[in-house]
Amino acid sequence: MKNEMSLSFASVSENEAFARVAVASFITQLDPTMDELTEIKTVVSEAVTNSIIHGYHNEPQHKVYIECVIHDDEIELTIRDEGVGIDNIDEAREPLYTSKPELERSGMGFTIIENFMDSVEVISAPEKGTSVYMTKQLSKSKTVYN
Ligand code: ATP
Ligand code: MG
Repeated sequence: MKNEMSLSFASVSENEAFARVAVASFITQLDPTMDELTEIKTVVSEAVTNSIIHGYHNEPQHKVYIECVIHDDEIELTIRDEGVGIDNIDEAREPLYTSKPELERSGMGFTIIENFMDSVEVISAPEKGTSVYMTKQLSKSKTVYN
């Protein structure tokens, strides 16, 4: 079965929790395990937080966009902003790299995202914005009915 949704919301940190719950609620129809659900929620939090604090420097008047497509047991998730973009994507994806050490960021967001998803593609251009496209195949046949 194929299904999809898209969302856009203001770039305020209160919406991080909204985004996490909205995506979790959408993928519930795939009957994910608790671990899978937690992983997807964490990934959404990390990417949305990145868009708000890095992409938009915490300015509230911008929008963050989420698209989620599911087919069978696979999730395709895109989290996008139209913010400042990333100069060096390879460097940004390195564990422990952060451009905001003064905010006590640990530079682990992308690493966490990569650990929890099967594939992660970052498309970004300075002053145009950043799009993080991710896929994850959920485990099949979790529920045994007798
Ligand atoms: P943490 O996620 O551990 O709090 P962090 O956000 O700095 O720290 P990552 O999420 O791994 O670490 O991101 C690494 C770096 O990539 C960021 O410091 C920032 O420079 C850049 N970056 C990530 N997402 C975006 C984005 N949407 N727009 C602009 N820059 C980004
Ligand atoms: Mg981060």
